[in-house]
Amino acid sequence: MNSTAKRIAVIGGGVAGLLASLTAAHEGAKVLLFEKMPKVGLKMGITGKGRCNLTNSAPIMDFIAKTPGNGKFLYSAYEKFDNEDLLSLLHSWGLATKVERGGRVFPQSDDAQEVRHLFMDRLKKEKVELHLEEPVRHIIAADGRAAGVVTDKGRCDVDAVILTTGGASYPRTGSTGDGYAMARELGHKVNTIRPALIPLVCSEVYCRELQGLTLKNVTLSVEAGGRRKAEEFGEMSFTPFGISGPIVLSLSDKVSLWISQGRGVKGTIDLKPALTREVLDRRVLRDLEKYHLKQMAGALTDLMPHRMIDTILELAGIPGDLPVSELKKGQRLALVEAMKNMPLTIVGTRPISEAIVTAGGVSVKEVNPSTMESKIIRHLYLAGEVLDIHAYTGGYNLQAAFSTGHLAALSAVKELESE
Ligand SMILES: Cc1cc2nc3c(=O)[nH]c(=O)nc-3n(C[C@H](O)[C@H](O)[C@H](O)COP(=O)(O)OP(=O)(O)OC[C@H]3O[C@@H](n4cnc5c(N)ncnc54)[C@H](O)[C@@H]3O)c2cc1C
Repeated sequence: MNSTAKRIAVIGGGVAGLLASLTAAHEGAKVLLFEKMPKVGLKMGITGKGRCNLTNSAPIMDFIAKTPGNGKFLYSAYEKFDNEDLLSLLHSWGLATKVERGGRVFPQSDDAQEVRHLFMDRLKKEKVELHLEEPVRHIIAADGRAAGVVTDKGRCDVDAVILTTGGASYPRTGSTGDGYAMARELGHKVNTIRPALIPLVCSEVYCRELQGLTLKNVTLSVEAGGRRKAEEFGEMSFTPFGISGPIVLSLSDKVSLWISQGRGVKGTIDLKPALTREVLDRRVLRDLEKYHLKQMAGALTDLMPHRMIDTILELAGIPGDLPVSELKKGQRLALVEAMKNMPLTIVGTRPISEAIVTAGGVSVKEVNPSTMESKIIRHLYLAGEVLDIHAYTGGYNLQAAFSTGHLAALSAVKELESE
């Protein structure tokens, strides 16, 4: 870096801001990274249950498909810096990675802190000027271009600003939605934020009774007003307030949207999605013959987890102490129905503070997808979750933050150099 190097302020030392800072510094800019927390990358450190699902090995088209929140906006960012580019970079820094089920890529060490520390080391190497515990309050714009930032310590003049303050979930990591207000002040539209990838709240008492129980290979279906429908097959669990787990998180984006539109949402769990009602009925009959000397509560152990039996019998209206030999055909069919169609009344989502990602944010219509530059304020770039982008689980959200952060930094340096 020389003394005439252009000055770039990066606001937020999270996933997007860290890579943006390193990229801009590597390209010769003088980078000032402002982070409101005492440490950078706090959210990165808790990703993937502490293991950091860095990205996915899938082709880029899958990344777009797995990003219900404005996936197509990311084409250019992925063209410039995709999952393979990210992994090459991390490998060149000495990080070993591995690919797991569903193409999910993790550090070999299973330790998100290793990734965080790697980024912190690189900040030193690239001589990024770190301003920890110094939240940015405002972005200064003069003559339609970003010219500086204001913190509690005063004003800091720069040539370009990259806004990477993240979403509004897990506020203890520093993501408290500050960037939305800063962008709004400059005339940007911020689409209503809501939780995505979030556990769901159900009114059924049995969810609480079954809390901690995980169901595998089930289908969860959700619908609003009979017309909007979605379903996922896989694993879910019961919680003290409702349901969670991979398939619940996958469906939660749609449910969160429907709820924000004031729609009532119903769910059903199919405990035996591979079996039609007729085949399941024959299977139940076989089990009832096998356990014909027992009561109903003792006759279903081969069909479902032990803890579910009372709930299913109650849903079917069958007393647990009813002798198997006294079960009527209508009751047996009700039992099959309860297993194929376990009802859930979804009354809400958990709060946004508990969401894995925030849906909504700065409208991507006002950001150039080829550069990440604001279409309203020149030399203001935006990247990561502060934008109205959100993806499913699987490493897609981190890749989106890395790719947009990288593109924002490259574009900022290139644009400043060309002046
Ligand atoms: C529990 C959990 C697990 C997750 N696991 C995964 C996973 O395994 N894989 C995956 O792909 N995604 C995962 N995600 C999502 C992923 O972490 C986010 O999408 C990603 O961190 C977004 O990056 P970002 O840089 O936009 O925001 P962040 O990483 O949230 O960074 C924003 C930064 O800006 C700082 N900041 C905010 N306001 C200011 C201000 N005024 N001034 C200065 N600094 C400010 C914050 O302190 C923070 O450091 C997970 C999320 C959570 C909550």
